[in-house]
Amino acid sequence: MNGWHTDSLWRAWSAVSGVLALSTASLGWFLARERRKSRDAKRSHDAELLASLEDSPLFFAVIGLTGRFERMNRDPLASLGRTKDQLIGRPMEDLLPAASREQALQLFRKTLAGERCSAELQILHASGHAVDLQIETAPLARAGRVEGVVIFTQDIGERKRSLERIRYMAYYDDMTGLPNRRFFMNRLHKRLSGGVAEGTLLAVFYLDVDRFKLVNASYGRDTGDILLLQIAERLTRCFDVQEDLARMEGDEFVGLFEVRDTGEASARIEALMRQFDEPFELGGIPLHVTVSVGFALNVEAGDDAGTLLKKADTALHRVKENGRNDYTRYVPEFENTALHKLTLQHELIEALQQEQFLLYYQPQYGLSDGRIVGLEALIRWRHPERGLVPPAQFIPAAEDSGMIVALGDWVLREACRQNRAWQDAGLPAIPVSVNLSFRQFAQLDLVGKVAAILEETGLDARYLKLEITESMTMDVERALAYLKALTALGIGISVDDFGTGYSSFHYLKRLPIGSLKIDRSFVRDIQQDPNDRAIVAAIIAMAHNLQLQVIAEGVETEEQVRFLQHHRCDEMQGYYGSPPVPSDEAERLLASGSGESLRSLSS
Ligand code: C2E
Ligand code: MG
Ligand code: MG
Repeated sequence: MNGWHTDSLWRAWSAVSGVLALSTASLGWFLARERRKSRDAKRSHDAELLASLEDSPLFFAVIGLTGRFERMNRDPLASLGRTKDQLIGRPMEDLLPAASREQALQLFRKTLAGERCSAELQILHASGHAVDLQIETAPLARAGRVEGVVIFTQDIGERKRSLERIRYMAYYDDMTGLPNRRFFMNRLHKRLSGGVAEGTLLAVFYLDVDRFKLVNASYGRDTGDILLLQIAERLTRCFDVQEDLARMEGDEFVGLFEVRDTGEASARIEALMRQFDEPFELGGIPLHVTVSVGFALNVEAGDDAGTLLKKADTALHRVKENGRNDYTRYVPEFENTALHKLTLQHELIEALQQEQFLLYYQPQYGLSDGRIVGLEALIRWRHPERGLVPPAQFIPAAEDSGMIVALGDWVLREACRQNRAWQDAGLPAIPVSVNLSFRQFAQLDLVGKVAAILEETGLDARYLKLEITESMTMDVERALAYLKALTALGIGISVDDFGTGYSSFHYLKRLPIGSLKIDRSFVRDIQQDPNDRAIVAAIIAMAHNLQLQVIAEGVETEEQVRFLQHHRCDEMQGYYGSPPVPSDEAERLLASGSGESLRSLSS
């Protein structure tokens, strides 16, 4: 009989309805259908079966032997833009784009021969474009004779699109459009398990934008987002396969490179970091951004995706601890970092109590006459076992733990005390410069504290200078209030490491700053690099234009001195004059009044 046909119809139906996720509406309908099904169990005629499907949420149509539409359960408006009345009686062919005619005809023939078919077919929408439909066909039989074909369809275009959307949301970062963590982990996993080409390694890196929080805090989140977008765009320039780069969260990006060795991995990462040489532009303000990168290579047996990423992250943390804007490769010794950090912080507290810190002083010279015009106080740690430890090895840890505030207070007090003592001993009265760290600058009572220390040590405010960095001035309004209060005390402010920070010249006009210290990275290369020569010359000219003094850091050679003199730089500091020296040596230099080498130059 036609039992198998009925069965065939049901199966065709189920196939297509199975595609539909059971939404609440279709679930309700499904239950009703099941009830009706059992009620109508005795009626097994295809036509009756179709009648029971009349109100189904899916669409069916019957095509007669002539190839014309004979019946359908609803207007296929959503998918085809046509009504039932417009279609009944019309040849199915009218709805077929040329490209799918042959396929449709074959389906039709096969079904008429008793087969149940399933296919993805393109059908013409009333507006002329083709839509993708998933169709199931089944022969329609009456009294043992096939009389036509029943087609069940579902518009999968929409489904395809929503799947794409879901996939996108699951695997891509909404803001930058880059793959996200999940995508990257899958990809890394596949690359590792699929075997990396002979003789090559996978380098996985973790990149973090330095002081990104400051951008958000100073310019607002929207601006921060725009910066991230621009960063993502620059990073993608370093990848042939865009899927090898992903955004983790916030200001963190990860990626992978296929390399031959550590050297090549380093070269790729250096290229990545060079993308940050040029400033970004945010609402007309140029912003200099640096990044820190940690990377790991799949050299050990247990290096799965998770492990590699964790190693790269550990290496990144090491870079951050050592002062940012750098990269490093993971080595197993880094694993002790957490412990090391804890020990270090504990040691720092003890060192302060046991008076293991001391100040070195580096003279600053006037470039016109070679006279000592100032001293910069630079902290050292006399460690019982490790000897004299330079600040780069403990300042970052002290900053992280907040310990820098107590340490900074000590430096300030000691520098003021020493300077006053020198003056009391009859040595020339010149200002001492003290470096302020970010945390100190953020303290609410900074001004009160500085005033109290000056009072306590008896140092006249004009003999104290505070060195701030550009990043501290990003929140211009706050910086303005603080600096105004500080300068009202009578102390001077200079901007340290100028040229490496986030800032632009525009804020300098507004802030009560007395001098700029050109970062030594520019000074270092003035002999070789015409760019650096131009930058240094421009900084000097610009500063003078704003009535600011300029001091060049890290001056080591006579050529550098001559260049700086030629461009009328005011002062210099560096090994050419003197390295930082202990206080007794500084006292001797002060007594002599000027530097040997500089004296000869200026005479
Ligand atoms: P900075 O304030 O830019 O200090 C200048 C650094 O450059 C000093 O390193 C100095 O030794 C070095 N230097 C001076 N002349 C030359 C030169 O001709 N060539 C080269 N290659 N280097 C030169 P130092 O003393 O190791 O200090 C490093 C940084 O540590 C300082 O950079 C400053 O940011 C920070 N620091 C030092 N003392 C303190 C402190 O008391 N408090 C805070 N918050 N930071 C400090
Ligand atoms: Mg300094
Ligand atoms: Mg400096």
